[in-house]
Amino acid sequence: MTSIDVQRWMREFAALIDEHADELTALDAAIGDADHGSNMQRGARAIVAEFDSAAPDSAAAAIKQAGMVLVRSVGGASGPLYGTFLLRMAATTTGELDADTFGKAVRAGIDGVVARGKAQTGDKTMYDALAPAADAFDRSLAAGADFAAALDAMVTAAATGRDATVPMQARKGRASYLGERSVGHQDPGATSAVLLLRAARRAVR
Ligand code: ADP
Ligand code: MG
Repeated sequence: MTSIDVQRWMREFAALIDEHADELTALDAAIGDADHGSNMQRGARAIVAEFDSAAPDSAAAAIKQAGMVLVRSVGGASGPLYGTFLLRMAATTTGELDADTFGKAVRAGIDGVVARGKAQTGDKTMYDALAPAADAFDRSLAAGADFAAALDAMVTAAATGRDATVPMQARKGRASYLGERSVGHQDPGATSAVLLLRAARRAVR
């Protein structure tokens, strides 16, 4: 992944967010405050605008720029969390990302999400999509897959993790205020996390 590929990743992400904004908002309306679609849309569009005005000259700079934009432009919990994810990814990145360094950077990003939000497995958050996705990516690489195939495995595992949030009771974030009434709904952040990884898959040829 070069700087160009990271920019493509974020543009694909912005396109997927636009496509799914209503769905994300509807999911957040059920167990939150109905702003996840607009939060993600504001953030993703701001990243694209930033890349349009000043193209970053390395993969790490592009990821860092995207992370800073999310922290700065998204008011909800998800902005700082995704922003931290990207900033931690950037901090571990030197030069271009290959499959191995991408996996390590994603792992560092997830550690950042946990450091910031304290989510654990089963809390019904974006972590429930991201953590199994990183595991599947590593397993796939260890089994000899190339970058694209490992990303396919990652996206599949993220979607399974997202679906598994439906029966969970939320223990973090706004949805946790609902207690048992959060059960039976798909987590909005786990849903957008799948889109972020699907976008990465599209960016890697
Ligand atoms: P807000 O909850 O402030 O309105 P959003 O609606 O944009 O922010 O994002 C909600 C999503 O953020 C949730 O669906 C969940 O996946 C994620 N989230 C909230 N709190 C946490 C946390 N502590 N750790 C990880 N993810 C979290
Ligand atoms: Mg919300």
